[in-house]
Amino acid sequence: MTSLFHDIIFGPVHSRRLGLSLGVNLLPTASKLCSFDCIYCECGWNAEHPGARRFNAREEVRTQLEATLRQMVADGTPPDVITFAGNGEPTMHPEFEAVIGDTLALRDALCPAAKVSVLSNATQIHRDSVRRALLRVDNNILKLDSAFDETVRRMNNPQNPAYTVRGIVEEMKRFEGKMILQTMFLRGMCDGKPIDNTTEEEVAAWLKLVGEIRPRQVMVYSLDRDTPCQTLEKVSKEDLQAIAARVDALGIPCTAA
Ligand code: SF4
Repeated sequence: MTSLFHDIIFGPVHSRRLGLSLGVNLLPTASKLCSFDCIYCECGWNAEHPGARRFNAREEVRTQLEATLRQMVADGTPPDVITFAGNGEPTMHPEFEAVIGDTLALRDALCPAAKVSVLSNATQIHRDSVRRALLRVDNNILKLDSAFDETVRRMNNPQNPAYTVRGIVEEMKRFEGKMILQTMFLRGMCDGKPIDNTTEEEVAAWLKLVGEIRPRQVMVYSLDRDTPCQTLEKVSKEDLQAIAARVDALGIPCTAA
């Protein structure tokens, strides 16, 4: 079963990699809103969760985040990281830049050691306000699952028919390394057809793009939770580590989770 995040602020959850992470969901709490419709999305298919195109109001996000941070600090357990994720793509929020500004101000005032991370599918990075906001956060984490348009179309179902990997790569290069690249590796069947972005052809082409983008870090991972397409397979830790070693060889640190 996939599931939605039913609150604006969620968690905190303990993660081995991030520490104590408090989540912020800018998307509808009762539906999903994303410019992708990934076959592995833990929120389920877009069509399963139709709803109004409604984002959580900037002021409500700020008020709830402030109250939660104040409580966590008072309890002696401030978060290690504040992570923007949730029921879809956070950078689609019309006031994303202002929300990030509010969040950084609250962080500086209440828990200055906490990092601010944004998990994004990179479809909005051509917008100046989104780019400016992402340049201000500690961890600007952008998704790219394959070097091939056809594979991205199958894995991520971009809702904009004009999406191309080349277009996204050119926008990523403009960050001049101030980004973390995140890639989901998986294999299996979807819609009765095989899918596998771990073949040599896939990994070699992806590595070439990694070398071109030169992010400050790469994160490779595989399935963890339930997925809307139920015939996908998790890639082993060993396979992920082998891919990570090839990224390391480019002089770019890579984590495999
Ligand atoms: S980009 Fe993220 S939220 Fe959007 S469909 Fe893919 S996994 Fe789900």
